Amino acid sequence: MSDAIPVNRIKGVGEKTAALFGKINVYTIDDLIRHYPRDYETYDAPVSVREAVPGKLQTIYGQITAIPNIKKVRNLSILNAVLKDSNGESIQLTFFNMPFLKKVLKPGGFYLFRGLIQQRGIHKIMEQPRMFTWDEYQKKTGRLLPRYALTKGLTNQTVQKSVAQALEYYPPEKEYLPQMILQKYPMLSHREAIYALHFPESREELLTARNRMVFEEFFSFLLVLRKNKELAAKTENHFPMYETADTVRFLEQLPFPLTKAQKKVWGELREDMGSPYAMNRLIQGDVGSGKTILAVLALLMCAANGYQGAMMAPTEVLAVQHFETISGYVKKYGIAFRPVLLTGSMTAKEKREAYAKIASGEANLIIGTHALIQEKVEYSSLALVVTDEQHRFGVRQRETLAAKGSEPHVLVMSATPIPRTLAIILYGDLKVSVIDELPANRLPIKNCVVGTSYRPKAYEFIAKEVAAGRQAYVICPMVEEGESEDLENVVDYTEKLRAALPPSVQVAYLHGKMRPSDKNRIMEEFAAKEIDVLVSTTVIEVGINVPNATVMMVENAERFGLAQLHQLRGRVGRGEFQSYCIFISTSEAKETMERLQILNHSNDGFHIASEDLKLRGPGDIFGIRQSGEFAFVLGDIYTDANILKEASDAVEQLLVSDPELTDDDSLALVNYFKEHTAVNVVDFRTI
Ligand code: ADP
Ligand code: MG
Repeated sequence: MSDAIPVNRIKGVGEKTAALFGKINVYTIDDLIRHYPRDYETYDAPVSVREAVPGKLQTIYGQITAIPNIKKVRNLSILNAVLKDSNGESIQLTFFNMPFLKKVLKPGGFYLFRGLIQQRGIHKIMEQPRMFTWDEYQKKTGRLLPRYALTKGLTNQTVQKSVAQALEYYPPEKEYLPQMILQKYPMLSHREAIYALHFPESREELLTARNRMVFEEFFSFLLVLRKNKELAAKTENHFPMYETADTVRFLEQLPFPLTKAQKKVWGELREDMGSPYAMNRLIQGDVGSGKTILAVLALLMCAANGYQGAMMAPTEVLAVQHFETISGYVKKYGIAFRPVLLTGSMTAKEKREAYAKIASGEANLIIGTHALIQEKVEYSSLALVVTDEQHRFGVRQRETLAAKGSEPHVLVMSATPIPRTLAIILYGDLKVSVIDELPANRLPIKNCVVGTSYRPKAYEFIAKEVAAGRQAYVICPMVEEGESEDLENVVDYTEKLRAALPPSVQVAYLHGKMRPSDKNRIMEEFAAKEIDVLVSTTVIEVGINVPNATVMMVENAERFGLAQLHQLRGRVGRGEFQSYCIFISTSEAKETMERLQILNHSNDGFHIASEDLKLRGPGDIFGIRQSGEFAFVLGDIYTDANILKEASDAVEQLLVSDPELTDDDSLALVNYFKEHTAVNVVDFRTI
């Protein structure tokens, strides 16, 4: 089988190349085949200078007019040439460190140049364009050439060639979907689709192929989900719980009343935990809608009934924040929690102490990261498992934690903005509660989308807010795969910002590469208001709650997905103060500004996510992924909502005709699940 064959079996893939493949997690031929292109390069027909659009990769055909002239600037040799098209309009070409071109480019000669069109004043230029002859270019025209995720030393060409060879090992009869499904939903065969994903003949073929693989991906995911649901529905409630005075008193002491939506959900949780079956519920609510308090109530009810509860968060920072919040409640309201924190960065001794408290039952509330599901943790009476921002966890992790108890109640919280119909499909194994209103004391956030020239004003504004006692976030983007670069971004930016703000303003930074303990310390200092302005990468995107922060400034906003920007915006406007979002865009291109303007017009997470995808259009099928959403390998729950519904229907149909999956027709599918240990088909993003 192709899964088991190592990549070095491919001709031309030696030890060295195999090691490079290992760096991008490609070990077997199967891995390689599933290493789908990141996007495709298209060689469209050449354009004239007038038609060339700045910011686009395009090809221009013309005649070299000016005689190339070489300039030396330090170690750099710069060669400028002028290309004139058939309308008589010119574009400047600049080549770096290619002095030999002086001999190659003949004034009067005709050539094709392909490169990024740039605007310099009123002129258009291309830097370091690639040169083609007509024949060479003709061969590429109209084709879609795959571009793969690479690592240093591994070229796109090597990957292309290796994939082409790997496909020869791929058995032509490979098909997973039962015939009954294929007949109802006509589509390419599995192998045809895989082939076309790597080497499409046309855009149309690519889309058909992609749709087929997306269907397969959703189908297998939903089938596993359905099977889980059947199991869950039969899970008896081993930990029946009843409301006690503890939660009632806690609610009375809270400085705010629950919103109507929160009250309704709290009712659902109480009912679930007292019912004959174990709770298996999702709470869905937009950022800031107040999900945490509901988890606290459920956990408190659990503690008051004499059991243990656990709450798992996707990041240490968030886990620590939950721990602090709840410890604060204990201190202030004297509620019955004996909480303990468990995270990866704790020392061995600290962990041992935590394990002991968990095993003895001395701790009745355990808060942490996926350290909670490590083998060494033994619970004494785990009856309720809460996972916050669950989409960050795989189904498997959720289940592993549940398996730590004997079939405890499960509560999942998510801010992923999806409409109820999709939520019901995607969280098929869970009942869904929706919090569809924000607490009443919230003022709508004021937004602005501006260019970089606005920066000084933004800094002034931040200084003013800080002087008024508020705090601010400034987000810098992660530079794609450039580890050290993005680190410098945040650090350098912090320096710049310190210089721009009055010296009394405390500025600190936070990024993903810092030690977890340092991250926690910085977050604690920010929460304690020892830091006024926090410069950060998107590590703060998930769940952080500092209600005193009122400004969210995002640099290079154009590089983020809108859903992600919406999450970032959710970090402010969490208290009674008027809050502001400043989205700085380095590109003032019309399309970019329009896309960002969506954030101005709406605060509705789902609306934003769908608009974003509409604007990106079907051409961008492998475009920026929504972060933090359901991370399927190919499928996107928004753009592919129709396929998702179709796959859901197909699963129903299969289970009606073959509920136990024992027919011959289902054999390939069942084997596939066996080969790929359960839900492996779905690559949930773990962080
Ligand atoms: P999220 O749903 O994004 O997880 P949180 O649970 O962190 O939101 O709540 C955001 C903030 O709103 C917290 O400071 C919380 O104390 C506060 N909050 C929650 N419920 C209410 C309410 N009913 N009225 C006022 N503030 C509330
Ligand atoms: Mg939250």
